[in-house]
Amino acid sequence: MERKTVIVVGSGPAGLAAAEALLDQGRGAVQVQVMTLGHHLGGKAASWRDAGERVVEHGQHVVLGFYRELRGLLRRCGIRPDDTLVSSGGEYLYWEDRDDSAHRLYVGDFLPKLMDRWVRYDGFTHQEKAALTGFVIDMVLGLGPPVSEDLDDVCFSAWALSRGLPPSVAATNIFRANREVQLNWPGEISAYAMLNTLRAATRDPGRHLTAYPAGGMSELWWEPIAARIEDLGGSLVRRQKLVRVDATGTDLQGVVFARPQFHGVGGRWTGSVPTVAGTEQRHQPDAVILAIPPPCVQEALPAHALGLPGLRGIPRLTTVAPLGLHVWHRNRSRGAPGVIVGGLAPPLPYVMDNANGYHALAHDPNAGAALHFVGQLACFEEYSDVELLDRALAAVRRVPGYEMMDREGVLDWTVLRHTAPHARYWNAEPGSVRHKPSPRTPIRGLYLAGDWVRSELDFPCMETAVRSGRQAAGLALDDLFRNERRVSA
Ligand SMILES: Cc1cc2nc3c(=O)[nH]c(=O)nc-3n(C[C@H](O)[C@H](O)[C@H](O)COP(=O)(O)OP(=O)(O)OC[C@H]3O[C@@H](n4cnc5c(N)ncnc54)[C@H](O)[C@@H]3O)c2cc1C
Repeated sequence: MERKTVIVVGSGPAGLAAAEALLDQGRGAVQVQVMTLGHHLGGKAASWRDAGERVVEHGQHVVLGFYRELRGLLRRCGIRPDDTLVSSGGEYLYWEDRDDSAHRLYVGDFLPKLMDRWVRYDGFTHQEKAALTGFVIDMVLGLGPPVSEDLDDVCFSAWALSRGLPPSVAATNIFRANREVQLNWPGEISAYAMLNTLRAATRDPGRHLTAYPAGGMSELWWEPIAARIEDLGGSLVRRQKLVRVDATGTDLQGVVFARPQFHGVGGRWTGSVPTVAGTEQRHQPDAVILAIPPPCVQEALPAHALGLPGLRGIPRLTTVAPLGLHVWHRNRSRGAPGVIVGGLAPPLPYVMDNANGYHALAHDPNAGAALHFVGQLACFEEYSDVELLDRALAAVRRVPGYEMMDREGVLDWTVLRHTAPHARYWNAEPGSVRHKPSPRTPIRGLYLAGDWVRSELDFPCMETAVRSGRQAAGLALDDLFRNERRVSA
């Protein structure tokens, strides 16, 4: 059987999952090369170490129980998921402005009970809890059959209000924070995307319902996965920017890469990364899987391709710029391991003290706090880094257990503004599903993967990205070996 060549562009969860699947299922019949822009692996789920050897994450990540494909990928690469995660035991803490207090939410580790726990949340009044019961029962029953795509034209808040959610509940920080879990504050998210995810979560619950990485994700996961890809015979080339896809209306002709000019590390790139003149190299593989965010696909595809049915929706997909703030503080917080605090002031509504969760720090008596705030930049673009820091610290200091997070005790801090196209996050806003492309494109040999490509989940998270990468790999293998003996899975 003739050996086929496949280039995977991007080393986020989708690209790495695609490469592993191609090699694992292709069984020696495919030569796989992963080409990626940066030197950190993991894309939006990457981490790296700063000059002081402290772990910096692109963005704080949570792993939910239904992430079975992600867990499967980790296991195949020799990583025991539970050894690299810390569970919150299903506990969250939400700040509510309306009574100036923090409230605990226990989701437990049994997802079907999530709704029941939500009704018990002590941040709601008795009247709100009574009114919520009917809404929650109705919603849980509605999660049985597949969620109608028609609901993509409706925003989740409007849908919830129309189904009996008390307006006062919609105004709480916990409702806002759960809606904003997709980080598109101050926008709305699609009812289809939200309900589809809740459906996946309730139908496929797993252990450690909400868990957090117990260290930097690139070290824990993405680098070992890359090592496994290399063990399987694949190769990984860092610092390669895809600058152009050459294609006719029906066929892939080649892809061109160039060396990116770096002007800082993650979060410090503000626009499209320029490339070094004269470093362009053209490749002509049998297939290419683009596992890069929509603005980067748009940048690389020729204009005529973006007019093809199936691809013409890409420019209409909107993205947001995530925002991160790391604060290393002399004092330790009294937050329990793995508990995230939500409902804080925008633009950084969530914070986690990773010193309580990272294995390397948890038992170090000299480690202070490693606070990681996360949110989205919209409406706060004009704020200086210092203003963002002061605002975030003022918000978290009101939460019991975090009162000691004063400005004086800050040892170091860094703000990450992910405004560059390659770092932007697809926004699951209402009306966007119809614009999403499928993994198999109208151009023969060209496939798309990523958290923004059509999938059974249609919700931007690591699990979607991994599933999408595996799906694109499967389609590429099917097409490459259609007329030959099917490569055994
Ligand atoms: C702040 C934040 C918090 C998040 N929290 C969670 C969470 O709690 N749980 C969860 O499951 N998910 C979370 N996510 C989402 C998760 O990170 C993404 O869904 C996931 O990383 C998407 O994977 P991907 O492979 O599709 O794309 P990406 O991770 O975006 O990877 C794309 C890759 O393509 C590369 N690339 C881009 N352009 C080019 C080019 N021209 N040439 C070569 N390479 C290129 C990039 O460098 C990168 O390696 C969060 C995201 C953010 C930003």
